[in-house]
Formats: sequence, structure tokens, C-alpha cells
Amino acid sequence: MAMNGLMMNSPLLITSIMQFAKKNYATAEIVSVTKDNPLHRYSYAEAFDRVGQLANALARLGVKQGDRIGTLAWNDHRHLEIYYATSCSSLICHTINPRLFENQIEYIINDAEDRWLFIDPLFVPLLEKLADKIPGVHGFIVMTDEAHMPETGLRNVYCYETLIASESEQFDWPALDENAASSLCYTSGTTSNPKGVMYSHRSTVLHSYAAALPDMFNVSINDTVLPVVPMFHVNAWGLPYSVPMVGAKLVLPGPKMGDGAAIGDLIAGEGVTLSAGVPTVWMALLSDLQKTGKRLPSLKRVIIGGAACPTSIMREFQQHGVMVNYAWGMTETSPLGTLNTLKPGMEKLSEEEQWKLRAKQGRPVFGIEMKIVDDDNHELPRDGKAFGSLKIRGPWVCADYFGHEGHSDTHDEDGWLCTGDVATIDPDGFMQITDRTKDVIKSGGEWISSIELENLAVAHPAVAEAAVIAAHHPKWSERPLLVVVKNAGQELTWEEMLSWYDGKIAKWWLPDDVVFVDELPHTATGKVKKVELRQQFKDYVLPTAE
Ligand code: ADP
Repeated sequence: MAMNGLMMNSPLLITSIMQFAKKNYATAEIVSVTKDNPLHRYSYAEAFDRVGQLANALARLGVKQGDRIGTLAWNDHRHLEIYYATSCSSLICHTINPRLFENQIEYIINDAEDRWLFIDPLFVPLLEKLADKIPGVHGFIVMTDEAHMPETGLRNVYCYETLIASESEQFDWPALDENAASSLCYTSGTTSNPKGVMYSHRSTVLHSYAAALPDMFNVSINDTVLPVVPMFHVNAWGLPYSVPMVGAKLVLPGPKMGDGAAIGDLIAGEGVTLSAGVPTVWMALLSDLQKTGKRLPSLKRVIIGGAACPTSIMREFQQHGVMVNYAWGMTETSPLGTLNTLKPGMEKLSEEEQWKLRAKQGRPVFGIEMKIVDDDNHELPRDGKAFGSLKIRGPWVCADYFGHEGHSDTHDEDGWLCTGDVATIDPDGFMQITDRTKDVIKSGGEWISSIELENLAVAHPAVAEAAVIAAHHPKWSERPLLVVVKNAGQELTWEEMLSWYDGKIAKWWLPDDVVFVDELPHTATGKVKKVELRQQFKDYVLPTAE
């Protein structure tokens, strides 16, 4: 038998990140935009004192170990407090994407069996509509102070500031097992209903270490970090943990996430050095800079990921003196899988050759194993040419889905996660996405389900068959294109087809265009051949692409 080491077996807990940050970086700042305060400012010490108060308040509300606590919120200081107060007190922080359509939010809340919901005041009307359909939710906590508390008929409703005001800052943080669940995030990246990815304390701490490494996010105590990626989207890529781990200043943009001018002002005003987000937000920022002639002198690096990004955006940032690194990940991978930094010697390559490399999604960080395989699950060579299904595994990659344990159709028998992406891997280890096998559209970094749009389309009496594919869009990366075969002898106009979706889907899911065809390509089993259809519309220019 192998001999054991003689080292302490300290569990890897989010609680330790909090306690370490509070002790060692008490004066580091957290700046946050909220509806009730355009620039809220406090220290780590104050933040974590309030985390103690919130944990006491939750205990008073009668929560039990392992209860899921939902959030519908932007990136702000209260959301950060909820992250820590829940996970560290043995509850599960379930972040919900408020941009989803109502029936999906309802499904997710019921599937997760959320007990309490923290909601931004902006989402009170949404929850009022849903309240009767989510009977398992005991009550609601509106993330604001008494002066800004909206009138509402929600049951069992509390005002955040009032709820925590008289609580003690001391909380007896439980000694959790490092494998205890900490947080939950649903992904709609596949064809069926959204599935819950359940992170653990251990996976979160390991991911935070990895993300902070110099060839990854490279976060240091000297940085000021602005996560523009939402805290409801894979924990804002782990930054709410990595940043306190190293003691950097944290800037949270609240509901201003998609507002290029506001993001630019925050960067300049707070001296932001590092930011991260999906391509769409950067286009908004760059176009504002172009209009106003403003500069971003403090900003050193931007991490772009979550969707395909044209190198033109990276080049434009470079003109502003900002280094851009491309990254790839999934909700299932916490999300960091790869990030693109060049290897030594590559700076000698011609500029164009460097750009070709930098357009790849990057190299895996230690902890992430990846491979590409063919249809028979045989590993393909890492020659930068062969492309195949991308598989991945590691300690911060999900092993199964919450509530559906043992039924994952995205894991193979050896435990690898099939990402649904198709990629090449070159001899230097750079992975490049070339296609996607999962049938979804990614618009502005958010999923749109092709299946749902297709099911709705075929429910129209004049539609015989319908397929939705992703078409390239300069602003949103991808937008849905609806391809329809009409029933023989039936009339159906472009306008009639699109207005059919009114009230059935979120507005931003509406296909950008409808194309009527005589027939769709089919496989032998009668399924629509999406690969062929996508190929057919490869160069299609959407009417919305100006
Ligand atoms: P996230 O948006 O945080 O990456 P999701 O689970 O919502 O997480 O989406 C993951 C999927 O998004 C990937 O499997 C891939 O299809 C796509 N994706 C992520 N990063 C990139 C990237 N840099 N380039 C192209 N596609 C990407």
C-alpha cells in the first residue's frame, strides 16, 4: 500500500476564501451599481460582516441544510453577500437567469425546489406573475432598502436591508465537507429541459485557484476587476471567488451590464485593470469609444469568451492598448476550460500568424484534460487538422445533473463530458472550436433553443415542417433563422409566421428571418440534417445584420 503523506487535510471551502479575505484584505474595496445607489462603496470587512448578518437572517427564516435559495439578480454587492451567506452556511446558492422566458424560469425554480428567492426590485413584476406557479417557494426577499421597497402583493415578502439590520455579524460557520454542494446553475445547452449543474465547495475553490493563475485570468492584489459576465451565468466565471481569494478590488456593474457608455465610465472612474465578458458587451463598449473618442487608460486586459468572437474586436482593443485573451468554457466546467495566451517563441511569428493562433479558444489549464474523438469514440490526433467531438474531464467539471443523477446523455461510460462542441487541438495544445453538435443558438452569450422554436412553428396549421439554425450576426454572434416548409396549398406570409410567436417566447428569441423552402434535408431516420442545412445557409446574410 502506498504510504500516506503527513499533511493537514484542511477541506477546500468557500468559507475559507471569505475568512481569509476578511482577515487579510479587510480594507480592499467593493464598488457596486444598484437601482437604489448609483455607486455603492464598501470594504471587504463590511461586506463579510453583512454576510454574517444575512446568514443569521436566513437561519431565522427557518432554512434547512441543503435548501436551495434562488436569486434573480444583477451583479451587485447584495448578490455577492448572498453567494457567501448561502454557500458558507450549508445552503445552496441557485442563480437564475432572469432573461429566460417566464415558463422556463418557473420550470427551473420548481425543478430546483427553491425555498426562498432573492430578487432585484426590477424583477418584482415578473415574480408576481409567477408566484402562484411556484408553490414550493416560501417567500421572497427584495434586494433593496425600505425607502426603495416596491409595493407588492407577493406572499411572505421581506426587504433585504430590513431583514438583516438587527442581526449579529457573528455567525457560527459550519465545518462542511469539501464535497458539500455550494451553488447551482441551470444550463439550457442541450435539446431537453434545462439541467442543473451543482457545484461543490471543493470544485469552486480549485477553479478559483486555477482561474487566478498568470496564464489564465491572472488576477492579483494590484488589480481592479470588473466582471461584466453576469453572476447568474456560471458564477460570473468564478470571479466572485477568485477576486476575494487574491484581495483585488471588485467592481460590480449592476443592471448596467449591456450599456457600453456606462461600462466605459465605470472602467475609467474606478481604474479597472481587468474585465471579462461575452463578445456582445465589448462591441457596445467599443462603439461608444468610437463615438465619443474616450480612452480606457487603466484597462490592461479583457477576457472574452462564452461565444465565438471575431478577431476584429481583439484588434480594436489592441489599438486601445488593451490585451485581449480568448477563453472557452461551459456551465458544466465552472466554466474555465481553456484560455489563449501564446507560448514563448510565438512572439517571433508574423503578426498575421499570431492572430491566427490567437483566434483559437486556447490551451487547457492544469486540472482540465481534453481530447477530441471520432464517431466511434477513438481519440483523434492533436495535429491542428483533425476535428472531432470535444470531451473534457477534471475536478471542476460536472459529473452529473441535479435531480437526474445517472441519466446524463452527455457523459460517456468513462466519465468524460461530451461538450457538444467540435474542435481541433494543435501540437502546442491550442484547442479551436470548428462547429457545434448541440442544437442551440448562442445570441449575445445566451442560449436560444432551436427545438423550442421549431416545436412552436410546426404547431402553426400552415406549417408542414420547420428547422431553426444559427445564422451569423455581426453584433450577437448568432441569431435564429427559421426555415419553413408550408403545407401544400396553404398560404403563410413572413409576418404571419413571426407574429405566431407573440407571447409564446421571450422577445429576444424571435427568429431574425424566415425562409420558405420546398423541402428540408433529412437523415435516413427522417431527422432534419442540421449540419447540411447549416452548410446551405453558411453565407446567409440576415436582414438584421447591418
Ligand atoms: P458559457 O457561456 O459560460 O461559456 P454555457 O454553458 O452557457 O457557458 O455555454 C458553453 C458553450 O458556449 C460552449 O460549449 C461553446 O459551444 C460556446 N462557447 C463558449 N466559449 C466559446 C468561445 N470562446 N468560442 C466559441 N464558442 C464558445
